[in-house]
Amino acid sequence: MQRNGKDTAALKNVKFFLLDMDGTIYLDTTLFEGTLSFLDTLKKQGKRAIYITNNSSKDTVEYEKKLRRLGIETTDDDFCTSAHALVYNLDKVSPGARIYLVGTPALAAYMERSGYELVDDYYDEPEKRPEYVVLGFDTTLTYEKLRIACDYLTDGVKYWATHPDMVCPMRPGHSVPDAGAFMLLIEGATHRRPEFIAGKPDPCMIRMVMEKFGLLPCEVAVVGDRMNTDILSAINAGVISICVLTGETTLTDIDAAPAERKPDYVFDSIKDIYEILAGEADRYDR
Ligand SMILES: [Mg+2]
Repeated sequence: MQRNGKDTAALKNVKFFLLDMDGTIYLDTTLFEGTLSFLDTLKKQGKRAIYITNNSSKDTVEYEKKLRRLGIETTDDDFCTSAHALVYNLDKVSPGARIYLVGTPALAAYMERSGYELVDDYYDEPEKRPEYVVLGFDTTLTYEKLRIACDYLTDGVKYWATHPDMVCPMRPGHSVPDAGAFMLLIEGATHRRPEFIAGKPDPCMIRMVMEKFGLLPCEVAVVGDRMNTDILSAINAGVISICVLTGETTLTDIDAAPAERKPDYVFDSIKDIYEILAGEADRYDR
């Protein structure tokens, strides 16, 4: 059911739906009712779903496997992660730069495939030093990595990060420290904050998809369950924002948000969007 009464005609003109995953199309390992119908309808109508995630610790192959287990077939092209967005922006200003990475082996492999040279230690020699320290969600973090990153940051090396999330949900009721929490630790030691953070709420991932596919703002909608990341990134990018109430956000949260931070549309679940696109809602109305 729609919860904010806005005319839904504009949704039929959307060509690309950028979907948050956990809390939007599934919760943990349970697919929400309506997700498969929604994705089928997009396919039938020549529209696209792109899965967007702030998580920079995993290769997209991991997400492809997870979605396949839930009955959704995808390819690498169907994903946009904060790591993709960081590389996309770095390519514009410093392609092939030397990087000191605080990240997982999967992120390291992606950066190397993208043409970046990773520095493995602290060096005084100018030709061996990195141009950037890049911080991701590093589930392989060690004190040694932190020490080296802090040394370079104290020296004034540029500092970018993939995303600002403080915690990553692992299982119901439990979370683990994420990149935003590492940032606070590093800030405590060096007084440095990243000059650029690629993931939501920055609009970078959305802009990347728009540039890649030549899309207008009215042709793109972000569907998500978090106000401070999913919805804010859509507002920052100037595209349509849709909040579903199957995850973190409640109607009370939406009511309490200032007008400029409210989503364009609020639905109980993704099934409601499917019904509008498929015309089911019109049928119910008759
Ligand atoms: Mg979510």
